Amino acid sequence: MPLIGARVDQREARAPNRRSDARTSAPNQRAMPDRRVRCWRLTETHAEPAPPLPAALIARFAAIVGKPNCIWRPDELRTYECDGLTSFRARPGVVVLPASRAEVVEVVRLAYREGLPIVPRGSGTGLSGGALPVPGGVVLGLSRMKRIVEIDFDNGWMRVEPGVINLDISKRLAARGYYYAPDPSSQQVCTIGGNVAENSGGAHCLKYGFTTNHVLGATVVLPDGAVVELGGPIADPIGYDLRGALVGSEGTLGVVVEVVLRILRRPEATRTFFATFPSTDEAGTAVSLIIAAGIVPAAIEMMDRLAIVAIKASTGIDWPDVGAALLMDVDGPLAEVEHTAAEANRLAQNAGALEIRVPRDAAERDTMWRGRKSAFAAVGRISPNYVVQDGVIPRSEIAQVLRAIEGLASASGLRIANVFHAGDGNLHPLVLYDAAIPGQEALAEKTAGEILKLCVARGGSITGEHGVGADKAMYMGEMFSEADLATMNLVRCAFDPLVRMNPGKVFPTPRLCGDRPGIYHAHATELAGLAGRG
Ligand SMILES: Cc1cc2nc3c(=O)[nH]c(=O)nc-3n(C[C@H](O)[C@H](O)[C@H](O)COP(=O)(O)OP(=O)(O)OC[C@H]3O[C@@H](n4cnc5c(N)ncnc54)[C@H](O)[C@@H]3O)c2cc1C
Repeated sequence: MPLIGARVDQREARAPNRRSDARTSAPNQRAMPDRRVRCWRLTETHAEPAPPLPAALIARFAAIVGKPNCIWRPDELRTYECDGLTSFRARPGVVVLPASRAEVVEVVRLAYREGLPIVPRGSGTGLSGGALPVPGGVVLGLSRMKRIVEIDFDNGWMRVEPGVINLDISKRLAARGYYYAPDPSSQQVCTIGGNVAENSGGAHCLKYGFTTNHVLGATVVLPDGAVVELGGPIADPIGYDLRGALVGSEGTLGVVVEVVLRILRRPEATRTFFATFPSTDEAGTAVSLIIAAGIVPAAIEMMDRLAIVAIKASTGIDWPDVGAALLMDVDGPLAEVEHTAAEANRLAQNAGALEIRVPRDAAERDTMWRGRKSAFAAVGRISPNYVVQDGVIPRSEIAQVLRAIEGLASASGLRIANVFHAGDGNLHPLVLYDAAIPGQEALAEKTAGEILKLCVARGGSITGEHGVGADKAMYMGEMFSEADLATMNLVRCAFDPLVRMNPGKVFPTPRLCGDRPGIYHAHATELAGLAGRG
């Protein structure tokens, strides 16, 4: 049973046809309210183009957002057929690009009345097919909504529209000595709306927390066009934490049209070091020793030999050819940072570091971080195709799991590069293959799936930060019971009872035509072991 991550290649793809193990339903499922829903299915149907939307309907969308911001010609729609997971593709009926909250509301209301599903989209850098269109449905692109609405330095928050690019926030705050902490490697391109939907992480989320720790509130347009405020700048809001439910909901609850973000003062000092090791064993031990000593680095990133080779080929950076390297930041008040950095340095040496480099100045530090952050793209220099996997393990397991991954590489004959957020145990194995060689793509998928199963077996998770999306929806059953999934579905249906927002993502897709989203009832063929779910 292949569990796969984002497959990076340039080719046209076909519909995935993956099956997970048959599971029986829990006997104590709660009854879902009987809702008459139109069942938008993706896994089997998204390769089939839907008929074009009627011209009169397109004209009504265009009347809301303006003709140039309403895309419906088939050749222009191709741009929106996929996100960063290029192997999943579907053509939407229309792409609308509103410029304001009022326009979003009107678009959503029109889609609601017409019974059309909506897929929100930021920059389309997602790696799990989260922004994959529903054939013939609406893609709602938020990239034109990029205003920074308000900054309150005194109370440490700012209000932004969803299309603001992550890095632009810190650039805007820099002059006042503030910044926005979550820093996905895609931060030059990805939007805050996408970050909220994916609960994105980044190198510096180890100390400062993921997006969810930095979103104080959000304004959301629900599927029927109602506008709700979830949370806000005031600390400790009462009632259910619906803001928490929203962050990481992958566009399935509504369209985020405004976000209140926590902003932080830049720490007084940052110390960086780059340590090399004979292998990932020693590097993994160093991570465990440093964290066990009570040190919380701002970031601690690991790269293995192959990742280092790729980064060097792509950037020309002068890193040595070694088995593994750690790039680490500690930050905080100067006096504390000096002490902590020296201690972490000592622990890395105890773990067997070959060399520890401290950047001479800010420019050299930037070069080191640019090397790390370019790693995914860099792998394109050493392989025509690769699968980006995203899984989590307890960080104490890093050395053992990396050794097991090495075993999978040897067994499959494929190369696997590892570059990841070591402090969080968030692995990103990149399984390299050549699609031109018959059978290699399937082998890479299978190997990436084995890695994911390894993560789950070691007490980890099927995704760390790239989300479930369309890619891993059918594998949610690997981690959650039917009762767990049913409870999540109840939350989703409280916001979106007709399942119009980003249908087919996150939850295992109903398998049969008459199936309704909601609590899953296994079909008799599945219970008999004759069919799987997916
Ligand atoms: C080279 C590279 C490096 C990456 N590194 C990281 C990393 O370090 N950490 C990390 O977490 N991710 C990383 N990613 C993945 C990706 O960049 C993040 O998931 C990012 O948050 C997606 O933002 P986006 O604007 O591109 O969203 P999209 O891809 O357009 O959409 C992502 C999801 O968000 C939903 N969505 C978008 N906007 C809204 C909105 N306004 N309201 C409701 N739902 C919305 C979409 O429906 C979809 O489900 C990387 C990707 C690439 C290509």
